[in-house]
Amino acid sequence: MMWRGIIERYREHLPAIDKSAVISLQEGNTPLVRADNLRFFLKTNLEIFLKVEGLNPTGSFKDRGMTVAVSRAAEKGQKAIICASTGNTSASAAAYAARANIKCIALIPKGAIALGKLAQALIHSARILAIDGNFDDALRLTKEIVAKYPITLVNSLNPDRIEGQKTGAFEIVDELGGAPDYQFIPVGNAGNIVAYWKGYKEYHQAGKAKKLPRMMGFQAAGAAPIVRGEVIENPETVATAIRIGNPANWQEAEAARDESQGIISAVSDDEILDAYQMLAALEGIFVEPASAAGVAGMIKLCRQGYFKKAARVVCILTGHGLKDPERAVKVTEEPKIVPANIGDVLKAANIEG
Ligand SMILES: *Cc1c(COP(=O)(O)O)cnc(C)c1O
Repeated sequence: MMWRGIIERYREHLPAIDKSAVISLQEGNTPLVRADNLRFFLKTNLEIFLKVEGLNPTGSFKDRGMTVAVSRAAEKGQKAIICASTGNTSASAAAYAARANIKCIALIPKGAIALGKLAQALIHSARILAIDGNFDDALRLTKEIVAKYPITLVNSLNPDRIEGQKTGAFEIVDELGGAPDYQFIPVGNAGNIVAYWKGYKEYHQAGKAKKLPRMMGFQAAGAAPIVRGEVIENPETVATAIRIGNPANWQEAEAARDESQGIISAVSDDEILDAYQMLAALEGIFVEPASAAGVAGMIKLCRQGYFKKAARVVCILTGHGLKDPERAVKVTEEPKIVPANIGDVLKAANIEG
C-alpha cells in the first residue's frame, strides 16, 4: 500500500483533520536501522537501533509535527504561520506552508543556523528575519506576535506539533513489536522527548505495547538548562539545533524523564562530534551534530558500565548531515592534491608503492 504520510497512517490517534485538508509531503515511515558495527565497536551487549529521521521530506523529524500543525492551521482558514527556529523548524514550516499556499515567517538567531537549513527556508519562499539575539529571544518575540495577530505559532508550544511527532514512537513499536528498553534522544526545546513519551504511553494504553521505555535525553553541555536547573543566558554548542537556553517544554520534559524513570544529562561538544563521526564511519549514516547527542549519551553510559544486562535501545537521529556540511568538512582532513598521473594516484591511494 502506498505510504501517504503520518496523518493518514495514524488518523485514529491524531486530532481530527478532514481528508481534503491534509497538507502532507508523505513524511514519516523512516528507517529503523540496526547498528551492529557500533555495537561491536563498543563491545556492548546492547541491541542498538537507529531511527533515521533525517530521511523525512525536509531532512528532520520536524515534518511529523508540521504536517499536523499546518493542516490544522490551513483547515481553520489561517493565512500565515510563524516560528522561531534554530533552522529545522523554519525549513519544515516553509515547505509545508508552500504546499498549503499560506505565508510563513521565521525568526532565526543571526549567524547561528546551519547553511543547508537557511537555504531550505529561503528557497521555499519563507520570510526569514535574522534576529540580533539567540533562539530564546526569537521565541519570546514570536509569542508576542501571535498574542496580537491571527498567525499560527508552529513551534513545539503548539500541541499539534507534539501530536504529529508522537508518531515516531508508534512506528518504532509497530516495527519492533514493542517498546525498546531505552530511548536516547537529543533535547533542545524539549518538544520531541515529550512527544515520544506521549506516543509510547498512548500505544501502551491502547494495548499495542506491553512495556514503556526509559527516556534518556541529552543536552549539549554548553546549552544544558534542564541538567543544570537554570536558564542559560548564552547557550553555546556546535550542535546548533539544540542551542537553547530556556526550553519551552521544560516541565513536560522533566515529567517524561521522571515518569519513565529515565534521565536528562549532558554531553560535551567533543563527545557529540565523536559520536557524529562514528555514526558516519561505522554505520554509513550521516547526521547533523545535534542528532548525535543521544548517541553520544549512549556511548558515554556504555563506557561507564551503566548497562548491567542486555537491553534493546533506540536512538533517535533527528536530522540529516547534509544540513550542516561545513561541520563535516571541518572535523575531517582536506582532500590531498595529487598530480594527474597514474603513479602518483596509486601511491596516494595506498594501492601501490
Ligand atoms: C529541533 C531539533 C532537535 C531538538 O528537538 P526539541 O524538540 O527541540 O528538543 C534536535 N535535533 C534536531 C536535528 C532538531 O532539528
